[in-house]
Amino acid sequence: MHKLKQLKQSLFLFALLFVVTASTAFGAEITYTLSMPEPHTHYFNVGVELTGAKKKYVDFTMPVWAPGSYLVREFAKNVESFKATDKNGNSLQAEKIDKNTWRVYSNRADVVQVSYDVYAYELSVRTSFLDASHGYVNGTSIFMYPEGYEKEDGTVVVKPYEGWNTVSTGLKSTGKFNYTFPNYDILADSPFEIGTHEVYQFTTNGVPHEVAMYGEGNYDPERLMADMKKVTENAIAVIGELPVDRYLFIVHNLNRGGGGLEHLNSTTLQTTRWNYGTESGYRGFLSLVAHEYFHLWNVKRLRPLALGPFNYNEENYTSLLWVSEGITSYYDDLIVRRAGFVSPDNYLNIVAGSINSVENTPGNKIQTVAESSFDAWIKYYRRNENSNNAEVSYYTKGGVIGHLLNMEIMRTTAGEKSLDDVMRYMYERYYKKLGRGYTEKEMKEGIEAVAGKSMDAFFQNYINGTKSPNYNEYFSAAGLQLVNVNENMVAIDWGASTSDTDGKVMVRGVSRNSSAWEGGINVNDELVAIDGFRVDNNNIKNLLSGRAIGEKLEVVVARDGKLLVLEVPMVKDQSVRYQFQRVSNPTEQQNKILRKWLNTESV
Ligand SMILES: [Zn+2]
Repeated sequence: MHKLKQLKQSLFLFALLFVVTASTAFGAEITYTLSMPEPHTHYFNVGVELTGAKKKYVDFTMPVWAPGSYLVREFAKNVESFKATDKNGNSLQAEKIDKNTWRVYSNRADVVQVSYDVYAYELSVRTSFLDASHGYVNGTSIFMYPEGYEKEDGTVVVKPYEGWNTVSTGLKSTGKFNYTFPNYDILADSPFEIGTHEVYQFTTNGVPHEVAMYGEGNYDPERLMADMKKVTENAIAVIGELPVDRYLFIVHNLNRGGGGLEHLNSTTLQTTRWNYGTESGYRGFLSLVAHEYFHLWNVKRLRPLALGPFNYNEENYTSLLWVSEGITSYYDDLIVRRAGFVSPDNYLNIVAGSINSVENTPGNKIQTVAESSFDAWIKYYRRNENSNNAEVSYYTKGGVIGHLLNMEIMRTTAGEKSLDDVMRYMYERYYKKLGRGYTEKEMKEGIEAVAGKSMDAFFQNYINGTKSPNYNEYFSAAGLQLVNVNENMVAIDWGASTSDTDGKVMVRGVSRNSSAWEGGINVNDELVAIDGFRVDNNNIKNLLSGRAIGEKLEVVVARDGKLLVLEVPMVKDQSVRYQFQRVSNPTEQQNKILRKWLNTESV
């Protein structure tokens, strides 16, 4: 095989390749064929040809989840018409042995061919989609892998629907619509956009970047490419190197939708198609670009130990999504600020907004950010009406943790170092030098190495604890203080969110420790009357206004067809609304830190 030529280079490489070759002793070849003859039916047909296995049987397995999106999605549920044949087209016996594995009794045949259809009609970044206008393939929901051959290289032949002339993917092309992959991980991690979409290009650091644009939108391609280039330049500057030789953005411009999913040398972004026309919408898109692009380092290469190599068959647990997603969220807005797309003042408002969001989520006092990471599979991705009371987002809180760490490091190093140095240190050490993921202890040690102080208490209180930080202790490093403008306000916290359902006022959420919570109002109650007045969707605000703390309301609800009278005590609204203010007479060091953080000379 072509790999052998590289053996002479070094003993290290030899040892590495020996391991790789040993685990793929059969030297099998794998070819996938992806067809879509009737896109309006939403069915992809997938062919897998495995040559050289010569085993009694081969198990073909469909992953249950898509890396980057921590939920078991059971992709096998969309598979139909599984068939297996030998090279002459004779049927081979096949049976399902569990929810996502098909066993093919190949009787040591040299060639095993399987074919199946996949229903693909969920247009999210983590699933696959096919209709009369385009196809989008997210590897783990389309391609089964023959078990034991995950390390094998292979080829993919795409057969686009008639008239579709463009295929965009991060895989290496070896001919028209033919691609190679070095192993299953990379195949699974390389989405395809197939259709008649536009492809734009720009170059950053000498590396070509393609932008595959599906769907109409009010973007100006020239301006967008220039601005995306600026974003990528500022992202690269954090770590200092770009470890890919090309990069692909797949963008879906939709009537509604949003989000992104990171891949090794590509990403898929979804945005509302008219988003580009407003300042905040445009900035939001660039922030999404920055987020997914920053994942190219943080999580795709610098990663928690549990996140690669992946087990595609079950949950992969880590308590570190606050680093992989939270610190990436910290960087998305910061990169957009560094690139100059948001003013320093607006940036400070965004940061204060994140802090407010964390502090006003009751679940922040219940769940630690490490627990939030670990339980993403059963909580973050499976929200219900009580989620705000029980959970905190590892994105938002992780982003706030990023700010605290950055401030702490800037303070202890007199503005010489920042969180950037931690990310560089971790990337060099764990991705480049050791070639493996890191543990929570190692993340902490990385921060300590840069900050030059113990982070024991920090991790105990804020990562593995639910204590609220004294924010001013941190932000004073930059000569800033957070002022709670709600502090002297006397307002009640009614705490029940409602919806208008056929004219009825239905309770959809009850916030922990609010008036509604204390008074025993339940989700799915219909609010009927307050203090003798009929409630409707227009007057509920009036019925609650002007109330005093401690006052008791008589609330009539209908619950499961029964009328109940509840006594609801009005409690004080404890929510915070922080805003940043400069301290008077900041020191030169405080100014230096603020200028460095906000990337501006004008403070
Ligand atoms: Zn992310």
